[in-house]
Amino acid sequence: MISKEDIIEKAFELGFVDIGFTSAEPFESQIDILKSRKEEYAWAFKSLDLMNGIDPKQIYPEAKSIIVLISSYFEKSFPKSMESHFGRCYLDDDRITKDGLSRDIKKFRIHLRDNGIDSKFPSNMPHRLAAARAGLGTFGKNCLFYSRKAAGKSSWVLPIPLIVDREFEPDQDTSKVGCPDWCRNTCIIACPTGALKGPRNLDPRKCISYLTYFGDGLTPMELRESMGLWIYGCDRCQNVCPRNKPWLIRHLSLNERVLSKKTKFELPKLLHMDRKYYRKVVWPHMFYMGLGEIWRWKMNVARVMGNTLDHKYVPDLIKAFEENQDERVKCMIAWALGRIGGSKAEDALNTFLQGKEGQVNNEIILALEKLNE
Ligand code: SF4
Ligand code: SF4
Repeated sequence: MISKEDIIEKAFELGFVDIGFTSAEPFESQIDILKSRKEEYAWAFKSLDLMNGIDPKQIYPEAKSIIVLISSYFEKSFPKSMESHFGRCYLDDDRITKDGLSRDIKKFRIHLRDNGIDSKFPSNMPHRLAAARAGLGTFGKNCLFYSRKAAGKSSWVLPIPLIVDREFEPDQDTSKVGCPDWCRNTCIIACPTGALKGPRNLDPRKCISYLTYFGDGLTPMELRESMGLWIYGCDRCQNVCPRNKPWLIRHLSLNERVLSKKTKFELPKLLHMDRKYYRKVVWPHMFYMGLGEIWRWKMNVARVMGNTLDHKYVPDLIKAFEENQDERVKCMIAWALGRIGGSKAEDALNTFLQGKEGQVNNEIILALEKLNE
């Protein structure tokens, strides 16, 4: 019969950076948290059965233990132009292409199966809580999970829980906040949209990550500057965290897989992309926005171009205003031109004003007012 040590050895052989074991007991502490946050997480309750995820036996009646694998997605560095606009955890996301981490998880599960152990991957289980209960690390006040040893003990890791039908000796629970007392809630203060309401208390509806891919319609005026340069995801509360700094200053070789996407994800290409480009080049790597939501990508890119304050983007924004019919995109382009400013942007806005009505017209007027402030 396969031992715990054999399983650990296989996990490291496949490139996982850590592994732990915990029981299949329910995650009782999660019940009150979920009940008290039903409003903030209503969107997640709709798509994931979160309440059922608290009890592994509800997901898999034969559950005896949970094995948690840790994958480090920041073992290699990323091009600056990519990590400035996209959350790092999304830069090499293979959940659609299945040619990286997904393949390694599959190999691990096949190894278990070949040794008589059945496993289930529970998408609705509290993954970070499972990892901490399996002794793999602690929590940050920014709601992230910090590894006990991988990637410089940082939060640049993904816990992957697998419920199995074999009982293993559980590892020592390390569920606690591991932040040093001297860090005066830097992440909470640094969150640009006030999404972090307090230690380990996030309102996802205000989080830039959520807003970039699930936000409702045209991004409200008051969020456009604070959402800054993020197109998909946000790493700010991780970038400012002193627990992550040792890893951030490490010299890492460049991630070639991500490097190969760099030119395809340049801002002008994303702003002008057609549906075919979106479906074939972008969506397989970043899929939280649906195939029918190309407008949201373009709206986000226009906002980001505006927030760069870089005049080189003015011709692209002018061209995109003419080639796009979607009002949300047009509104954001007008805003971006007003934010960048200059005579070319002003001339274009005055031209666009002629004959336009409604919301786009209002945005152009506001942009011209901002430009002349
Ligand atoms: S990801 Fe960004 S917006 Fe969300 S909590 Fe962290 S800093 Fe705030
Ligand atoms: S910034 Fe400070 S409080 Fe926030 S997670 Fe990091 S160490 Fe903890």
